[in-house]
Amino acid sequence: MTHPWDKQPRQSRWLDAPGALPCPVCGEPTEHLKQYRFVAWVVFYLIGATYSTAYYRGCPRCVRRVIAKRAAWNVVPANLLWVVLVLPWALVLLAASYRKGHSRDVLRNISPQEAALIETRRNAAASEVNWGRVLAVCGALFCWAPVVGLPFAALAFWANYRATNWTRPVSAGALAVSAAVHALVAVLALGAALR
Ligand SMILES: [Zn+2]
Repeated sequence: MTHPWDKQPRQSRWLDAPGALPCPVCGEPTEHLKQYRFVAWVVFYLIGATYSTAYYRGCPRCVRRVIAKRAAWNVVPANLLWVVLVLPWALVLLAASYRKGHSRDVLRNISPQEAALIETRRNAAASEVNWGRVLAVCGALFCWAPVVGLPFAALAFWANYRATNWTRPVSAGALAVSAAVHALVAVLALGAALR
């Protein structure tokens, strides 16, 4: 899957002489356009929590208003997490909104939609890598075990045979050990049967 900005070098996307840009919310031109990631909603339900974030863009006044509004809406669903997560995050962004000039994403010419998509792809890549690592570790841990070890090692190898990091040699080694264990078991079983 390719995305249009994949092939564009990042440097060339920087705005050369940004000057005043229109606020997408109120339409007023501003020298201090901000784009920040903040929680869209947070739900804390004692045994766990779920949350989603979004990128908000606007002049300092509009961006402060949307952050205050999002923070207010999340008081009840976030409850405990509001104090430890939502409030500090909001305060940091509110303070940052008083800095002069456009914020980094604005200067890099990354729209809120692009920023969100980059975030999604980064998270997907991270969870793929983690899954491969989990399987590689399981394969290495259980490869010595007859019967149980083989599916683990085979699964680890299947998940990692195209990996470029340590998971590939580890899972390949686990599969080799598992194959050797099974060959040994087969030889011993055959020897016992023939006796
Ligand atoms: Zn505005």
